[in-house]
Amino acid sequence: MPDAALDPDLRAHALAARGFMPPEEGDALHAAALEAAAAVPGAPFAEVGSYCGRSTIWLGAAARTCGTTLLAVDHHRGSEENQPGWEFHEPDLVDPAVGVMDTLPRFRRTVFDAGLEDHVVAAVGQSSAVAAIWSTPLALCFIDGGHGEEPARRDHDGWTPHVAPGGTLAIHDVFPDPADGGQAPYEQIYLPAIGSGRFTERRAVGSLRILTRTG
Ligand code: SAH
Ligand code: MG
Repeated sequence: MPDAALDPDLRAHALAARGFMPPEEGDALHAAALEAAAAVPGAPFAEVGSYCGRSTIWLGAAARTCGTTLLAVDHHRGSEENQPGWEFHEPDLVDPAVGVMDTLPRFRRTVFDAGLEDHVVAAVGQSSAVAAIWSTPLALCFIDGGHGEEPARRDHDGWTPHVAPGGTLAIHDVFPDPADGGQAPYEQIYLPAIGSGRFTERRAVGSLRILTRTG
């Protein structure tokens, strides 16, 4: 398997990109993607929730190293908590012409600056709509999209079946203790995945959970 550490130049791009992926969790995601590609050679990766492309760099770099492709899914209109008046709103990400969030230009710029355009394919639209027309087994699926109950449940139902046997399911913002954060990724994605008997936990770093498809 290739060296698990991300190239320092690319890591600098990731750290400069806007978004919500803590560095040590990004590094763990990158390492998990390299492992996933070794376990399921030739299969692509998917990221559900890209925002401005921060986590995309760790995963896109792993895709490049492994000669595969990352599908980056996002409607680029922001999650509930990114909307005006909510905790994680960034006003300069609103498209003034239409008055709604648009992170796609930033995302494109991040991927371009990192030199990863040949290894990242963006799917701009509803996660559930993309999941419904997707059929290639995934070496790795990283879920970091909408954190409300309904979107999280739809991401679980739509994407986890696409993880290949032996492949990896990575889930972000998993907080077993409600005092630490919202419960939807934990209750609607992590617990059902483990409870289904199809997935076994492999590693936990911060709020990132790395699961292997074992069933
Ligand atoms: N992974 C990113 C953060 C993602 S934030 C990082 O490392 O910084 C969550 C993203 O999920 C937002 O960009 C939002 O637009 C997207 N999202 C939320 N619900 C969605 C849905 N139903 N379909 C597609 N994208 C969605
Ligand atoms: Mg997150």
